[in-house]
Amino acid sequence: MPESSIETSGSHQTARSENRLSLQSAWRSAWTKFPFLAFCWTSLFILAAVELMIYYLIHPRLVSISPIANTVTVAVLALFFLILTSGLFLITATALSGIDLLYPHKKQSITVRLLFPIAATLSQFVRFDRNRLRTSFVKVNNSLTKAQSNRIRGDRILILLPHCLQIDICNRKITNDINNCVRCGRCPVGSLVAMGEQYGLKIEVVNGGTLARRRVAQFRPSGIVAVACERDLTFGIQDVHPIPVYGVINDRPHGPCVNTCVDMSLVEDAIRFFRKKAAPEKK
Ligand code: SF4
Repeated sequence: MPESSIETSGSHQTARSENRLSLQSAWRSAWTKFPFLAFCWTSLFILAAVELMIYYLIHPRLVSISPIANTVTVAVLALFFLILTSGLFLITATALSGIDLLYPHKKQSITVRLLFPIAATLSQFVRFDRNRLRTSFVKVNNSLTKAQSNRIRGDRILILLPHCLQIDICNRKITNDINNCVRCGRCPVGSLVAMGEQYGLKIEVVNGGTLARRRVAQFRPSGIVAVACERDLTFGIQDVHPIPVYGVINDRPHGPCVNTCVDMSLVEDAIRFFRKKAAPEKK
């Protein structure tokens, strides 16, 4: 076989395997979002069933009061269901396609606010792993954040780190001032401080939701890179809405809340997404 044909068939094979890999990663990425979206859609249908049942019970009384009262009630219930359904449809389509289909709003998403607690309760009821649902929520949130990249200014980015990243034998008070870290290399905090400096970002270490909320209120960021466990990220993302958050779930090789660590490449990806620029030259 001529050399050029061999080369062409080789490059075709490489392109095919690259396509297969990107398809696999797209499927994997969609699969991680599936639990949250599936539980939300199920919650929506449960809510619709409850609505219908309530209406069925109060219908005779409404008709006896006034036909207008009946019409108004039907209209309100239908509108409520329509808002939730369209909200969830747009969230699902944006999370899966990566295209920003969310309508511009600065307020808390009613859909997520209302459906997430029902979805969480439902998942507990069917004994679905709570952390898997939270992980799925964080993945959906990150997809929505990425899809809205054109709306996000990358100028005031805050990196929020959990206190448990600091090794327990270190007595430096880094929650007051991150610069108290001397970057001794015994825990990931030092590398994260260096990364923050490299990209010119504000970094705060917080020991709970109250301090995190205070730091966000003080700095008023246009975007947040948050490292935390599934639970804290889930609550934190909802707390600071509509500020876009890119969540990075930490690793806990020694159990929860002690000597945790984080995949630095994931943090750097999140930072680069907000900064919308290539990584600076490594020295
Ligand atoms: S890098 Fe060293 S000084 Fe900084 S928080 Fe970790 S252990 Fe403490």
